[in-house]
Amino acid sequence: MRQVTAIYPGSFDPVTNGHLDLIERASKLFDRLIVALLSNPEKDPLFTIGERVEMLREAVAHLPNVEVDTFDGLLVDYARRRGARVLLRGIRAVSDYEYELQMALMNRQLAPEIETVFMLPAEAYSYLSSRLVKEVARLGGSLKALVPPAVEERIRAKVLG
Ligand code: ADP
Repeated sequence: MRQVTAIYPGSFDPVTNGHLDLIERASKLFDRLIVALLSNPEKDPLFTIGERVEMLREAVAHLPNVEVDTFDGLLVDYARRRGARVLLRGIRAVSDYEYELQMALMNRQLAPEIETVFMLPAEAYSYLSSRLVKEVARLGGSLKALVPPAVEERIRAKVLG
């Protein structure tokens, strides 16, 4: 049987419990899961790519078949280099669907041999996004149950200076 490697790409600025819920579910489905951070200079991230990698590595340390990496350029080129046949994305609400559909079909056009797989998080995380987490932190709200404790500490340090 061929081993199936999946890539879970994203910004992860920072990783949330929603991302981790998906990573844990996917780690049971695929032989190997590569969480791939896009080093995207177009966005204005709160955390550097190095900080985001560090937080993710800490958060997935208990999952032996999960790896954290970074990539530049076309996702499908990176997937081919890594021998991955699956791209994993999360769908929270209908609002995610249109954008994700466009991306998935474009990626299929570029690399027909690679499949995009969508997964749903636990309902409790279906409203959770890195953007909202940062907003709540800036306004002084609690991040408990939204991000791992180590991530919460780092956001507070960053936001409060
Ligand atoms: P991007 O900039 O690529 O959207 P994100 O880090 O925001 O990067 O998200 C990466 C992937 O994780 C996307 O497919 C997104 O839909 C998914 N995702 C984000 N938050 C959640 C969540 N709470 N539950 C499930 N999937 C999520």
